[in-house]
Amino acid sequence: MPRFASLHASHLYAPPDRVEEPLRVAGFTPLSTTDFPGQLAAVVFVQGCAWRCRYCHNPEIQARLEPPLMPWQAVLNFLDRRQGLLDAVVFCGGEPTVDRSLGRAIDDVRQRGFKVGLHTAGIYPDRLRQLLPKIDWVGFDVKAPFADYAETTGVRDSGTPARQSLDYLLASGVEHEVRTTLHPSLLSSVNLASMATALRQQGVATFALQEFRAHGCSDTLLEPMPPPLDDAGIDHLQKLFPTFILRRAS
Ligand code: SF4
Repeated sequence: MPRFASLHASHLYAPPDRVEEPLRVAGFTPLSTTDFPGQLAAVVFVQGCAWRCRYCHNPEIQARLEPPLMPWQAVLNFLDRRQGLLDAVVFCGGEPTVDRSLGRAIDDVRQRGFKVGLHTAGIYPDRLRQLLPKIDWVGFDVKAPFADYAETTGVRDSGTPARQSLDYLLASGVEHEVRTTLHPSLLSSVNLASMATALRQQGVATFALQEFRAHGCSDTLLEPMPPPLDDAGIDHLQKLFPTFILRRAS
C-alpha cells in the first residue's frame, strides 16, 4: 500500500507562497551537460513537491518549510557572470511549478539571453500551460500508467493532472523528452508495455527509460533490482517511438 495514498496533494506541502516571494532555491548546479540536451546549462533546484514518489532522489527538498539554500538574486548574479559561457538554465526540483514565482524567474533568465529548460512531473497543468510559451525544452516525468500513479507517487488521483499536463505539452510544440524511471516493484514489464503504447497513441515521439538508481533514494524497501526489461522489450520500445533512449543504472 503506498505510504500516502489516502492523502490529497494539498495535505503534503506548505500553504501557498505569496506571489511576491522570490523563487525558493533548494539547490544549484553551476554547469551541467546532461539536463538539457545539447546545451551547457546551470540547474536550479526549486524547493517543494506535492508528491512523495518512492524512488525520489531529492526527498530532502520536498517540503517548502526549510529556508531556501540561496537567494534567487544570487543565482542571477552568477548568471550575469556566465553570459556567453552558458547556453541555458534548467529549473528542476522538487517540482518547480509548485513555486508561483517560477514565471518571473523564467523571465529573469530569458532577459539575460539564456534558454530555459524545465523538468516537471506535470502536477499543476494550468501553471504548466501558462509557462510553456517561454520554455525551450521540457523533460517530462511519466511515473506509470496514469490510472496507477498512486502506487508510485503516494497521492490519490495524481495521474489525472499528469495526463492533462502531457496533453498541454504535446499540443504546445515545445521540444521535450518524456521519461520514466523503471523499478520492477513499481512498474511491471506488462504495465510498461501498455503505458508505452498509450503514450505513443497520445502523441509522444521521444521517450527515455531510466533504470532506477538507489543513490539518494530514502525508501529502503526499494532495493536495486534488475529491470524487468529483456531484449525483446527494448526492441519493442525502439520500434514504437521515433526516438527511444535507454539510460542504464550503471
Ligand atoms: S514528483 Fe519528482 S520531486 Fe516530487 S516526489 Fe516525485 S520524484 Fe520527487
